[in-house]
Amino acid sequence: MTIQDQTNEILGRLGVDLKQCTGGSLPVYSPVSGELIADLHVTTPDEAIQAIDLADAAYRQWRNVPAPRRGELVRILGEELRAAKDDLGLLVSLEVGKVPSEGLGEVQEMIDICDFAVGLSRQLYGLTIATERPGHRMMETWHPLGAIGVISAFNFPVAVWCWNTALALVCGDPVVWKPSEKAPLTALACAAILKRAIAKFGDAPDNLLTVLIGDYAIGEVLVDHPKIRLVSATGSTRMGRAVGPKLAQRFARSLLELGGNNAGIVCPSADLDMALRAIAFGAMGTAGQRCTSMRRLFVHEQVYDQLVPRLKKAYQSVSVGNPLESDALVGPLIDEGAFTSMQSALKAASAQGGEITGGERVDTAHSGAYYARPALVEMPAHEGVVLEETFAPILYVMKYTDFDQVLEDHNAVGAGLSSSIFTTDIREAEIFLGAGGSDCGIANVNIGTSGAEIGGAFGGEKETGGGRESGSDAWKAYMRRATNTINYSTELPLAQGVSFDL
Ligand code: NAD
Repeated sequence: MTIQDQTNEILGRLGVDLKQCTGGSLPVYSPVSGELIADLHVTTPDEAIQAIDLADAAYRQWRNVPAPRRGELVRILGEELRAAKDDLGLLVSLEVGKVPSEGLGEVQEMIDICDFAVGLSRQLYGLTIATERPGHRMMETWHPLGAIGVISAFNFPVAVWCWNTALALVCGDPVVWKPSEKAPLTALACAAILKRAIAKFGDAPDNLLTVLIGDYAIGEVLVDHPKIRLVSATGSTRMGRAVGPKLAQRFARSLLELGGNNAGIVCPSADLDMALRAIAFGAMGTAGQRCTSMRRLFVHEQVYDQLVPRLKKAYQSVSVGNPLESDALVGPLIDEGAFTSMQSALKAASAQGGEITGGERVDTAHSGAYYARPALVEMPAHEGVVLEETFAPILYVMKYTDFDQVLEDHNAVGAGLSSSIFTTDIREAEIFLGAGGSDCGIANVNIGTSGAEIGGAFGGEKETGGGRESGSDAWKAYMRRATNTINYSTELPLAQGVSFDL
């Protein structure tokens, strides 16, 4: 069976109307084989505007549905996702090339966030606040915000949608979603799954979710539309630089989840076996195409010669290949462009004195697919190309001697997403997690940079955009807060002792 046939079969099973997937102007290629798997109809700007108006109309109804009842829809969505897990996971592998366990793992994240959001639907708490005025009560209430826009990247094509949508739905907000133009099929599948959940739920308004198909231009319609009150945008820092100021200009909220240049530090006391496995998964997993992939590694001079040769061996022996036909741990890069930027980064690293292990194209039966052996590059200094995110499996390794200096270097990049330290020295661990330590939104001890759980708030600082989504109190971004004061006395005392007697 061809990859296209396999894709169509899964799409059909998941409930996607296959007519949407042929005869259009947006070609979709599977990175697994380079084969064309669909030609999608692209949303026009007029259709997008109409969809946003309809989402706003849905908001006016959905906001009045009690939050625990809204949670019931998300509970059913979780059930539907459980039933669809194998198909959706495989579709992720077909469309973006993840190895099967990672495709399934991404769907598991969707199920997990649904469970989280169902509980949250009964916990959208506001504070009761002590008031200085007698006979008064002061409190905070949280209300649905409005229709929200989700823009997503190719590398987490379904989980990011669900992180946003599960929370948005319990918070009372419909979603208009612009998926990556490289991963629109999984988006249509998610929409079909949610549609089934809505049918089982019974009395939800129409248009709680609309998918806009196309490239950045259709995303711009979402970003510019005044009825979209929050845009949660995941992608490169370049995209965030375009989207962020536009949202600020119209005082809309933004939740930006942008690029990372994540590092690990291996200290003299580290458990090197553990560090080796964590680094290998963090740097080579998902073919280095996670926002949290490990891209820089600082190894203390005392353990450098024990760790780095073993790491190099892992790079030379890791299995790279078709994730659907083998038990390869590293699948394809998303496309030729990704391979080209990987090669230019390696060239730049070599010009800076880097010594490269791996990095070459791996031949497969598919000439249109781009498989590359992950590259480990021993660098003489932390500078130049090392400071930039290249969205490919390249790990720059540097030797360090001084702990304070390595913390400085660790933080001396634009991005601030994820970080980790490998140490059994409690002082080093605590300093790394403290105010003067890692400046990232995620800081870990003795685990790698990637593979966050949904229960924590996910996101990063500086050029990563500052947004937080998923767990903890990330839901607050999807609601508006009102401070309410109620006077149940027979007097009208003014705050701060002001008198205004008429
Ligand atoms: P990308 O920036 O090329 O595209 C992301 C999305 O933004 C796509 O849907 C694209 O169409 C849209 N877009 C681009 N320009 C736009 C504009 N001006 N207006 C509106 N929409 C626009 O990113 P990509 O190549 O798909 O993904 C890889 C990047 O995403 C990496 O930098 C990675 O680190 C980052 N990423 C970050 C996170 C995170 O949570 N921080 C998660 C996944 C990926």
